[in-house]
Amino acid sequence: MSRLAWLHVRQIFWFNFNKPHRKLKLVTQGKLNHVSHKYARKVHVSHSKKPSQGLLLATARRSLSQPLVSASATRVFESVGHRSFHISLPRNAAPAFWLVFKPISKLWAMLWGRYIRRWWAKVPQDQKNQYLKLLGGMKGIIIGVIVVLTAGTLINYYIHLDENPLTGRTRFMSLTHDQILVVADQEEKGILDEVQVISASDPRYQVVSECSMRILKANQANCDQIWKLDWSVTVVDDDSTSNAFVLPNGHIFVYTGLIKEMRNVDQLAVVLSHEIAHAVMGHSIEHISRGQLLDFVAIAVLAAIWTVVPGDGIALVTQWFYNKLIKLMLDLPYSRELETEADTVGLGFAAKACYDVREAPAFWALQEALLKYSPGIGIPEFMSTHPSHESRVRQLQDVIPEALKLRQACSCQPLSSADPVQRVQKEIELLREKHENSKSKNDTPAVAS
Ligand SMILES: [Zn+2]
Repeated sequence: MSRLAWLHVRQIFWFNFNKPHRKLKLVTQGKLNHVSHKYARKVHVSHSKKPSQGLLLATARRSLSQPLVSASATRVFESVGHRSFHISLPRNAAPAFWLVFKPISKLWAMLWGRYIRRWWAKVPQDQKNQYLKLLGGMKGIIIGVIVVLTAGTLINYYIHLDENPLTGRTRFMSLTHDQILVVADQEEKGILDEVQVISASDPRYQVVSECSMRILKANQANCDQIWKLDWSVTVVDDDSTSNAFVLPNGHIFVYTGLIKEMRNVDQLAVVLSHEIAHAVMGHSIEHISRGQLLDFVAIAVLAAIWTVVPGDGIALVTQWFYNKLIKLMLDLPYSRELETEADTVGLGFAAKACYDVREAPAFWALQEALLKYSPGIGIPEFMSTHPSHESRVRQLQDVIPEALKLRQACSCQPLSSADPVQRVQKEIELLREKHENSKSKNDTPAVAS
């Protein structure tokens, strides 16, 4: 996201800074009855496979002024893993109707296009001339239909334009918040049925829940969107998966594999803030809305390809090129834009919760080094839905000074003078040396005895 957008974010955080602090209530189960804000629902932290019966952890009840990480929990971060890491977009859950309608309508468009092409090939020339003459006579009607359809699509597009409340970016949103909640609840059930979750007494769980609550509480006064969601936390027992995401209904999922990658709680906080930023900005709704719009266009394009292009083989190749073009020119840059936006807004969230935001570029710099010095890993940025780690580090470093000012304005404890980026540089240097040594060993020819 551009510096201008960051300024917009900062303006919101700063402008609302002196708003009266609303209390984010925590309940063991059920809905809140007495809340001071119209959007407030409930905030619970679940530890079972039944989030609706999720119990509030004792840790979440504790005052946030207490030390965030207990001695036992601190040990969670001592493990150092060297694996590629990425955080995902919130799971894309499209409405069920669209999931069925989309492939059927695309297939239908292809088959109809193909049928018309083959039928036309068999029509005698004199009959073709008659049809063309007839179509020429209907020229006005055909143009009228095209104009009406185009105008309808444009009107539909413009009436669904919406402004991201945190960054001011205009986006297309055809789904409502309530529609996405229904889908997200189903998605949540599906995930919880598939995964093993760790116990609420596990220190890893406590760290994640406390960190999440601290971020949400610190930002609740400035961000109405936080009150629209039912926040809950689940830690998935899967050391082989380094991932975290937040469903559009506010359910935070963190995999134990990710926790193993973290060097400290500040790194966990910047990752969680990023995922929470995705959720509060409704990136899932936006992603699906835009996908639906592009799919409508794709149906028309597919029908045209299969009607006009001579031969099924060439039509298939043309369709493949079209799909690749859309992915490279539209989908991937757009996904990266959302990622950068979540990075910037998330950094503001972490700063307001008094975490050390300098850990964000440090974390991604290390991930970049792991990619560089680990064979067989790495996707060029232009092919990825996420910015490359290197780009991410650069973008984050650009906004760190502003985030630090925001942190200071929140009367947070001063940060240590040791810069996390410099600390990580030492680790990166060790990785590089290890890589060089193993490379030179492999390059040395074996000496026959
Ligand atoms: Zn993301």
